[in-house]
Amino acid sequence: TAKRKGSGVVVYDPAIDRSSQESLSLLSELRRALERDEFMLYLQPKLDLPSGEVFGAEALVRWLHPDKGFIGPDNFIPFAETTGFIRMLTICMMEKVASLSAQLQRQGIALKFSVNLSTRDLLDQELPGAFAAIVERHGLTPAALCLEITESAIMDDPARAQNTLDRLAAMGFALSIDDFGTGYSSLAYLKRLPVRELKIDKSFVMKMAQDQDDAKIVRSTIDLGHNLGLRVVAEGVESEEVWFLLRQMGCDQGQGYFMGKPMPVERFLEWLQQWRA
Ligand code: C2E
Ligand code: CA
Ligand code: CA
Ligand code: CA
Repeated sequence: TAKRKGSGVVVYDPAIDRSSQESLSLLSELRRALERDEFMLYLQPKLDLPSGEVFGAEALVRWLHPDKGFIGPDNFIPFAETTGFIRMLTICMMEKVASLSAQLQRQGIALKFSVNLSTRDLLDQELPGAFAAIVERHGLTPAALCLEITESAIMDDPARAQNTLDRLAAMGFALSIDDFGTGYSSLAYLKRLPVRELKIDKSFVMKMAQDQDDAKIVRSTIDLGHNLGLRVVAEGVESEEVWFLLRQMGCDQGQGYFMGKPMPVERFLEWLQQWRA
């Protein structure tokens, strides 16, 4: 049985084994959503920590369903991953981000945008080529874009992940390890991967002002990242107190509700103007 939310859209619940009938109907809903352009690009600002300057933004998908309203990624990405539909969604997001990035560049606004990849994308031999074509069509260089890959996605099949990541890095994409601290990665892998950035998982950052253990984990992750020559980003910065703590600890960048929630493109551009004013 599928879980029904609100007025009845079928959403993915990993705890429930769906019937093939239900899977088929969700898959056809996703395909229809792609045709009708219902997947929306939301952007969350990413800031340099000592200066507060806007470095860029992370692309996060929202499904604007015609009847059911907004559906968050956790409700359909895991399902999309099991069907192979994820490739279409990843390419759709890359296309939207590349188009926006090129448009802003023409206006003299240079921001770095990050796109999330999922576990299955790392096994997709054709994805690097598809990305290259999109970037080229928009007249961008891959270096303008960053790809976020979760630690657990990498550890799912480290050898194949390494292969895909090496290809993407060779093309010039910046790579980031997402949700760091939750995926049991071995430091040996971390050292070998062509990544530039490490994002500390928000579960450690959110409570670091109250929880000494979380604060220690964040501090040592910052040191670990710096010792490996990586930029360290904290996600889940929800208060000024955490912002200051991170700055004291030498963290390079922060992202979170305190500075800005994920927003549709128009609102992000307004936010940007206000922040810079
Ligand atoms: P993520 O990549 O770790 O993204 C960060 C999540 O934390 C986002 O949830 C964001 O809205 C939320 N967040 C940001 N700042 C704060 C904060 O200060 N406090 C709290 N409590 N939360 C914060 P969201 O947008 O619901 O996305 C959930 C996950 O879905 C993402 O986690 C990512 O793994 C996946 N996802 C989202 N968009 C895409 C996409 O386009 N492609 C793929 N493959 N995955 C995506
Ligand atoms: Ca991410
Ligand atoms: Ca994350
Ligand atoms: Ca996450």
